[in-house]
Amino acid sequence: MPPATPSDAQVRGYQPPAGLLAGRVIAITGAGDGIGRALALATARLGAEVVLVGRTVRRLEAVEAEIAAMESHGQRAPAASIAPLDLEKALAGDYDRLAAALLERYGRLDGLVHNAACLGALAPIEHADMRNWVRVLHVNLTAAFALTQVLLPALRASQDASVIFTSSSVGRQGRANWGAYAVSKFGTEGLSQVLADELSGNSAIRVNALNPGPTRTRMRRQAYPAEDSAKVAAPAEVVNPYLWLLGPDSRGVTGRSLDCQPLAAATAAAAVS
Ligand code: NDP
Repeated sequence: MPPATPSDAQVRGYQPPAGLLAGRVIAITGAGDGIGRALALATARLGAEVVLVGRTVRRLEAVEAEIAAMESHGQRAPAASIAPLDLEKALAGDYDRLAAALLERYGRLDGLVHNAACLGALAPIEHADMRNWVRVLHVNLTAAFALTQVLLPALRASQDASVIFTSSSVGRQGRANWGAYAVSKFGTEGLSQVLADELSGNSAIRVNALNPGPTRTRMRRQAYPAEDSAKVAAPAEVVNPYLWLLGPDSRGVTGRSLDCQPLAAATAAAAVS
């Protein structure tokens, strides 16, 4: 029997206890900025050893330094490590090297968060640029598939592993002009469901998709340049559902598509839409 669907209060209203992720090794892509950065800081504060995966090394170094200066549960937070990876340009050997280095250093992986993505150019399908299409599908979907595949041996070595794919509202209901980005997120939902089904019953790996919803980041500004950003949730406000999925409280939950917006913010957004 599939596990029960968790309630909104369980997921979006989750409050992580101190030390929730102690002893866990968690890799986050796009960890240098936006939601990925907020999640990296939150997971380190809860005791995880974080692997910061991303393209712009100076941003990853800044997050690594913030973690090094941080306290977790009354002690120094575990050191983070940096794994540079450009998802647009990486070749098979780059993925293999990252996976080998991670296994050698940690021996396993307890959490993998696919967060990095690019928006690309927004345009109607009729006028969509082929190169933009290929790039967005590659970075947002194909690269997540490739990274998951090479990291599965490390995930299988964990007693309780969680893979999270980052979706979007336009990955669940198509919207005009969102083209390759929307299609990449539909694909992400599909990848998450297929992998969840393949791993259920024969591994300790759960696989789920999360939609952060409107969040005040570079990508959001690119999509909605004229928006009053003060009305949009800050990255730190949407990370608790990720923490729930990464920690032991979500054990047994797999194959789900869940939402992140804090309950009060979602109610307010619905009231004005
Ligand atoms: P940001 O633009 O703030 O962060 C995106 C991250 O992805 C950056 O760290 C960026 O790295 C990384 N990235 C982009 N391209 C590549 C690449 N080729 N290789 C490696 N890393 C790359 O966006 P958000 O924090 O908003 O987005 C995080 C996730 O949330 C995405 O999956 C997005 O689709 C999703 N999302 C966001 C929403 C929002 O309102 N913000 C709403 C719904 C979904 P670099 O620093 O090098 O640019």
